[in-house]
Amino acid sequence: MKQASEWKALAGELRLHGQAYIDGGFRPALSGDTFRSINPATEQWLVDVASCGQEDVDAAVASGLRAFRAGTWSKISPAERKRVLLRLADLLEQHHDEFALLDSLDVGKPIAEMVTVDIPESLDCWRWTAEAIDKLYGEIAPTAAHTLGLISHQPVGVVGAITPWNYPLLMATWKLAPALAAGNSVVIKPSEKASLSMLRLAELATEAGLPDGVLNVVPGLGEVAGKALALHHDVRVLTFTGSSRVAGMLLQYAGQSNLKRVLIEAGGKSPMLVFDDCSDLAAAARVAAASIFSNQGEMCIACSRLYLQNGIKQAFLDQLLQVAADYRVGDPLDPETKMGAVIDATQLATIERYVQSAIDQGGSVLTGGLPEYVQGQGFFVKPTIIDDARSDMVFVQEEIFGPVLAVAGFATEAEAVELANDTIYGLGASVWTSDLSRAHRVSGAIESGMVWVNGWGGGDSLMPFGGVKASGNGRDKSLHSLEKYTDVKAVWISL
Ligand code: NAD
Repeated sequence: MKQASEWKALAGELRLHGQAYIDGGFRPALSGDTFRSINPATEQWLVDVASCGQEDVDAAVASGLRAFRAGTWSKISPAERKRVLLRLADLLEQHHDEFALLDSLDVGKPIAEMVTVDIPESLDCWRWTAEAIDKLYGEIAPTAAHTLGLISHQPVGVVGAITPWNYPLLMATWKLAPALAAGNSVVIKPSEKASLSMLRLAELATEAGLPDGVLNVVPGLGEVAGKALALHHDVRVLTFTGSSRVAGMLLQYAGQSNLKRVLIEAGGKSPMLVFDDCSDLAAAARVAAASIFSNQGEMCIACSRLYLQNGIKQAFLDQLLQVAADYRVGDPLDPETKMGAVIDATQLATIERYVQSAIDQGGSVLTGGLPEYVQGQGFFVKPTIIDDARSDMVFVQEEIFGPVLAVAGFATEAEAVELANDTIYGLGASVWTSDLSRAHRVSGAIESGMVWVNGWGGGDSLMPFGGVKASGNGRDKSLHSLEKYTDVKAVWISL
């Protein structure tokens, strides 16, 4: 991997795009309004970004609908769409360093994570989805001989996408790849805290051969551009990744407008359960640390609640504390850095508030603790582990979105499952045991969309990604993601 000095030199040469991308080209917001994009690791200005309003969203949706009706994308063969999307993946790979820098500078995440996680997983998703699209068949229903019943999956039209800032390129890719592969047009509103990679990606999509209007990017504030997209009558499916709070608002907007389908990938408070028959405590401790400290803990699937069977609790914590001590916090462009900056001052204050509440409610800080902020030098938090967590504590119940781990012991399997499920969320869970029957029992009993046994994460495109309860109803990745961006059509032909 490149050294910090090389990344810094490349960062100095970056061309940053801040305008909206509509109908195949960059343009300012019609109002001329902009907002500032800041590097959270230095608090320095990066670029001014167009702050789109209702009129820009209208123009983007109209462009998407025009393209959809013209059929330049929606009606070409899936094999042709595949070729364009594979070209886009190739271009993304050619611009690998540029995209690694764009997201790292924009959100403060370690460049090493961009290189090892975000970019390879984005490439995998584009390629896997593109390859899948010309291998899916419709059905013929077993009707009587005088009728033919055809069942097919049709693109829906214009898909609106609203995405978060924690994995700007990757989260958007999980939406764009299946929505585009299925033949839809997309209007995407990236988070106002991370718009840069999406704007550049749209430009590359045009270079790859995506017809104008099929992919439009409207950067802007959630309550303005996001709301306009969510209320739009010509948006047929709204696909969202973000907080459960905003997801609830989007469901209301859908009800107030055209009953559009709302696909939700929302927050989490995922548990990790380690049983005393876990055969490799060292591996479990390494994964426990990665699952809460990677990306500064700004991960929907972070295992932010760690439940340890009483017999191994102390031995496990000793190993975990050693691993946590090796988590180097600092300059995201240094490839040795394991934790960069959190997204902004608001997020820093939120994390501080939760750590204080944990202390006030009787938690024991084993490492880390309240952030020490130095004005003008970025928003950094140390890996923080807090023992003696109870389910009635605020920091155990609410999603913090920072590197703060709640730890508690348990005696029995039934107690572990009860603790795991004692949350409004249901995104992921990690279970560590060497007993296959227990692995099946516990993974079945946990209320979540995903369970990892003796592991956590899992980056390829083969498996669906999504949650239950307040974590949402969507499924990114896998063939299940493609289903979400199509309508089932039944055609009866009387013979
Ligand atoms: P957020 O909900 O604050 O914002 C997400 C997006 O919604 C942004 O683009 C924002 O501008 C937009 N938005 C805000 N208010 C809006 C409104 N009134 N109308 C329309 N759009 C609006 O979330 P965030 O802080 O960007 O991201 C962090 C959250 O995302 C966490 O809760 C995290 O768990 C979740 N997340 C979930 C997954 C998953 O796959 N389940 C993945 C990543 C992040």
